[in-house]
Amino acid sequence: MAHHDDLARGSDGPPGTFREVADRVWVARYPWFDVNVTLVVGSAGAVVVDTHASGLAARQVVDDLGRVPGGRQVVAIVNTHEHFDHTFGNATMRSAFGDVPIHAHEVAAARTVSAGARVKAFYDADPDDPHRDEVLNTSIVPADRVFGTDATLDLGDRQVHLHHPGRGHTGGDLVVTVPDADVLLAGDLVEEAGPPAFGDDSFPLEWPGTLARIRQHLGPDSVVVPGHGAVVDPAFVRRQQDDLTRLADTIRASAGEGADPEDALHDGDWPWPAEMLVTAVRRGYDHLG
Ligand SMILES: [Zn+2]
Repeated sequence: MAHHDDLARGSDGPPGTFREVADRVWVARYPWFDVNVTLVVGSAGAVVVDTHASGLAARQVVDDLGRVPGGRQVVAIVNTHEHFDHTFGNATMRSAFGDVPIHAHEVAAARTVSAGARVKAFYDADPDDPHRDEVLNTSIVPADRVFGTDATLDLGDRQVHLHHPGRGHTGGDLVVTVPDADVLLAGDLVEEAGPPAFGDDSFPLEWPGTLARIRQHLGPDSVVVPGHGAVVDPAFVRRQQDDLTRLADTIRASAGEGADPEDALHDGDWPWPAEMLVTAVRRGYDHLG
């Protein structure tokens, strides 16, 4: 599609360059974790969606935002879920933009501090990681505006909708839609930089249904911004839903045949390499009871 070819051409430029992927919707893709930070600009101010993985990293984001039209008038922050690569810049954003509200799903907000503490312990135990100090020096600030199913942010001449489509990557994922620009920010419910990430807090059996609900918000030309990697189109989301369906079906079939998780991983016909699915299969078995 010509539209997406244009987006691909726009990916040139140094890391952290905010690119306008749709009307006044700007995305910067950072090399550390290949994570995306998005800015949505309205007449009454702008909202930043996800804040990168440390206070130091977020200072670079603030500098980069300063070069975007409207990027200094940030009036709200959104965290797509609680993981540190999406929340650890919250404190820096508040230092730069004042005591702006931070929005998240209620489950994500409640888990941000504990999830962040676990990540800090992980970095603390790895003296060789070049990002260790900046992670340990980050003060963890959880969201203070929460919702269960839907919320709306008013940016004056446009509205930004927050929606919890169900569980998947975490228990508190949200997607952001900007209807007038036909954009959906998917957080880590959609992954372009690699296979979807299945952690100890993921819901692999529910994830396909969650993506089906997300797709109800998409038209043929919608722009979808994943949590990590390049901007994608609705066909990409459908393929990811198909792969996740195959994963969930294979977990159910293996469990139904009485295979233990190890044998299931070895024998199953999986959509991704089995060694990446150890946690997904274990979580799936746990959820089947
Ligand atoms: Zn992430």
